[in-house]
Amino acid sequence: MLAVLADAAAHGWVLPAFNTENLTTTEAVLAAAHERSQIIGCAHLPVIVDITNNYWHRQQTVNYTHTRNWEIGLRLFLADLHVLCAPPSPYADLNVLIHLDHIQWDSDAGLLAGELSRFSSIMFDASTLPMEENMARTANFVRMHGKTLLIEGACDEIAEAGSGAAGSGCTDPATAERYWRATGVDLVVANLGTEHRAARSTLAYRGDIARAITARIGPRLCLHGSSSVAADRLGSLFADGVRRVNLWTALERDSTPVLMRAMQGSADKLAGPRASLDYCTTTWRQGIVFAEMKRIVGKYLELWYV
Ligand SMILES: [Zn+2]
Repeated sequence: MLAVLADAAAHGWVLPAFNTENLTTTEAVLAAAHERSQIIGCAHLPVIVDITNNYWHRQQTVNYTHTRNWEIGLRLFLADLHVLCAPPSPYADLNVLIHLDHIQWDSDAGLLAGELSRFSSIMFDASTLPMEENMARTANFVRMHGKTLLIEGACDEIAEAGSGAAGSGCTDPATAERYWRATGVDLVVANLGTEHRAARSTLAYRGDIARAITARIGPRLCLHGSSSVAADRLGSLFADGVRRVNLWTALERDSTPVLMRAMQGSADKLAGPRASLDYCTTTWRQGIVFAEMKRIVGKYLELWYV
């Protein structure tokens, strides 16, 4: 992962990481990356696929299976990637890196005690704790796993959509520096004015704060809540010292209206004398979501993979 980050930096790329909680999303991310790899002539294009576990705001391994059991969901997620990243899959050439996102210092203790060799990187999230305890627990995690995993830490909480907190509590650059020096994490998540799970993409990302933090700790920022910022305002991230971007909300938020319009437009095919089973299937609905998610992911990849 460090080598991939270094190579991406040499290209001027910000590495995007896309969260998933179902096979349709997983495949849309890989398909968009595959298409981009062909456009720019880079067969082994790196793409990060990530998932949260017992993160209280979004338990994505739990959502991956209708058993709602995180261990089964995590196995299914890994199994899907295992199959999709090997021949005869069209995505076999991609350099797919698996990231665990927002792994909680307390509720994910069971996951952290298990086998972690399948993962390239982990976000160790103790950001709900007071700063001193956050730093102590994160530093301990880096001591235990820092030689085998790229570790991302959070020196601040990211606001939740609707909380009214976005933009009000941006990270003090001195705090980010203190956190990084105390923990030794590879990537730092700071509050740069964005918010998680945003219903609209209208927030201002604070590039000035990103640059002030980068001036102190070097280019090692990871931006969360990226869907809350219009895509055309994200082009300057590399210059601001951001090296990775996490995305999920936009994929779900912006594909749903497309599905709704398709279903409304096919209303006469869903029931009545012109009804056709072709329009009543999960395959049809997922095909629409897949195509739109792939298009959205492709738009983000265009921003950075040129
Ligand atoms: Zn996040």
